[in-house]
Amino acid sequence: MINLELPRKLAPAIKQARAVATEVFRPNSRTYDRAEHARPKELDMLAAVIDGLNDSGQGSSGAAGVRRSEPADGQVRNGSNLSTVLSIMELCWGDVGLLLSLPKQGLGNAAVASVANDEQLKRFGHLWAAMAITEPGCGSDSAAITTTARLDGDHYVLNGEKIFVTAGSRCDAVVVWATLDRGLGRAAIKSFLVEKGTPGFEVVRLEEKLGIRASDTATLRLDDVRVPKENLLGSPEIDPERSFAGVMQTFDNTRPLVAAMAVGVARAALEETRRLLTEAGVVIDYDRPAISQSAAAAAFLEAESDYESAYLLTLRAAWMADNAQPNSLQASMAKAKAGRVATAVTLRCVALAGTLGYAEDDLLEKWARDAKILDIFEGTQQIQKLIIARRILGKSSAELR
Ligand SMILES: Cc1cc2nc3c(=O)[nH]c(=O)nc-3n(C[C@H](O)[C@H](O)[C@H](O)COP(=O)(O)OP(=O)(O)OC[C@H]3O[C@@H](n4cnc5c(N)ncnc54)[C@H](O)[C@@H]3O)c2cc1C
Repeated sequence: MINLELPRKLAPAIKQARAVATEVFRPNSRTYDRAEHARPKELDMLAAVIDGLNDSGQGSSGAAGVRRSEPADGQVRNGSNLSTVLSIMELCWGDVGLLLSLPKQGLGNAAVASVANDEQLKRFGHLWAAMAITEPGCGSDSAAITTTARLDGDHYVLNGEKIFVTAGSRCDAVVVWATLDRGLGRAAIKSFLVEKGTPGFEVVRLEEKLGIRASDTATLRLDDVRVPKENLLGSPEIDPERSFAGVMQTFDNTRPLVAAMAVGVARAALEETRRLLTEAGVVIDYDRPAISQSAAAAAFLEAESDYESAYLLTLRAAWMADNAQPNSLQASMAKAKAGRVATAVTLRCVALAGTLGYAEDDLLEKWARDAKILDIFEGTQQIQKLIIARRILGKSSAELR
């Protein structure tokens, strides 16, 4: 029988994340929404605490917790992927922009954890790493990357431009996707860890955005940037059989994390809306069909059930990763559903709350702005659906695009 209760051993990590969300993120939420590009200094101390907890084995392992290994005893395991998505849900209940600004919790950290070998993990694990895939001429179609990496002795020389890099200016290093040979298509795309301060590697500009304004989003230029050849993450072999499976493996781990962010924001909006509706005298009754309740209660119940399915899909994708099960399909399902739900639910909550939902006295309008990105980065809604269709129909990317 399926058991949907959360394992008790994960309770401390969830509680800790909720405390951070309540005590640090929420009180600073509006401040950094208004002060775009200001570094949220409150988070530096928090990062040191998280480091301490991880070193002592007490904490959830954050973005780096997505590293996979076979369960040693063949038993079902509730491990760090599940713990990480649950913590992220709590933190994003607090503020998704601040979660994205948390040092060492970048999507690049998850990428390093996903594909780095043990030696690389030791060298790079302590850095705050952003992830740079998108270019001026390439977003959804990551196979069209034009940033190049040319082997020159013991170094790769990287050239190109990356745009919309989350945490791109505040991070210590960036995982840069580049091609070893543009003539060889997807199979030649590899990821490279490039540390800040490497000559030729520059932050060119910062974006001003609709939402997640606490998070810095940067354009980066690489002009003849030399990195040791050991900074290539994963295998340097160009294997047309595996296409760019190596770098894509990252997405199977990071998409559930973005889905978790979406679940957290949706939950925040639902809780606040329930409070406002209750204050206004609206009764939400779980023992009566929605159709026989007030329009506001019925709309709320519908939004809540949508949220619930996003939540469960996200847990499934993470649980599969913990148990070394292939989860590309489930990771995309979770990301597609949760991204759509966060966008729709937060907007519905704005509507249900009326003028209160649209004004800056409440955070509902901010959550509606913050939610949209979760349906865009790490693969848009449309791209997730395409991946799901390909997997279900057994079609290749050339056959269905
Ligand atoms: C705030 C923010 C932060 C970001 N952070 C990062 C980051 O850290 N690292 C990074 O690398 N990138 C990042 N991105 C970039 C993001 O991943 C891309 O915006 C996203 O992948 C979409 O690419 P695009 O903007 O080029 O849109 P396009 O690929 O040009 O797509 C435009 C529209 O067409 C749709 N579309 C495209 N192809 C198809 C298709 N085959 N079928 C149906 N519909 C299709 C898309 O879904 C979209 O709606 C960030 C973006 C934003 C806004």
